[in-house]
Amino acid sequence: MTYTVKEIFYTLQGEGAQMGRAAVFCRFSGCNLWSGREEDRSRAVCQFCDTDFVGVGPDGGRFRSAKDLAEAVDRCWKGGAREASSESREPASRKREAGGTQEAGRGMQEAERGTQEAGLGRERKFVVCTGGEPLLQLDESAIAELHARGFQVAVETNGTRPAPSSLDWICVSPKAGAPFVQRSGNELKLVYPQEDAPPEKFAELDFQHFFLQPMDGPDIAANTERAIEYCLRHPQWRLSIQTHKLVGVR
Ligand code: SF4
Repeated sequence: MTYTVKEIFYTLQGEGAQMGRAAVFCRFSGCNLWSGREEDRSRAVCQFCDTDFVGVGPDGGRFRSAKDLAEAVDRCWKGGAREASSESREPASRKREAGGTQEAGRGMQEAERGTQEAGLGRERKFVVCTGGEPLLQLDESAIAELHARGFQVAVETNGTRPAPSSLDWICVSPKAGAPFVQRSGNELKLVYPQEDAPPEKFAELDFQHFFLQPMDGPDIAANTERAIEYCLRHPQWRLSIQTHKLVGVR
């Protein structure tokens, strides 16, 4: 399988239950709820997106195999991407078919073994697979290759596709009007408010954490106020702020 990735970069997770944690972000290209082109926005299922997930950016690439993708992520851990990113990464301008993939499903024990073998102690390598919609591409083979390099593997998905069982952290952000398939996980992060997607619709689902994240844009102040009020009245829910925007990290 070939993986198309908009960008890979090292930063701090800005949102939700893992906020503040160092992570490699792997942003897969493409989404099933919007083309990413402004001219299509008014017809899209999801209309409030503020992410550029179209094509391949300077920090992204097309990877011929799960191994190549995992190696690129690994090189980026602790910000080391730039020097070594060209060897196994396919240039963005080239398209090739998939190479082999290997050894699925080793899980976290293997990941922790890998971490120890790499001498990383308590560093706990962490990758957040996001998009676009990462589950259009992220599969068991890629997760296994990331585990083999000592990574805990998280996904941020719109919930329209089932998540691979070997993932370590599943964050679902459901979108009004979209199919909702992945109904369990670690974290449900609802952009608020969304007409036809009130928090009550999700409150009984099987998640450990429930977050309301104020919708960004011109109404951010009012949306934040409403989210705060809702959390005060419904303590099951916590407020998630996009702290990376506040402190100016990528
Ligand atoms: S589902 Fe996520 S990535 Fe896709 S258009 Fe909506 S906000 Fe953007």
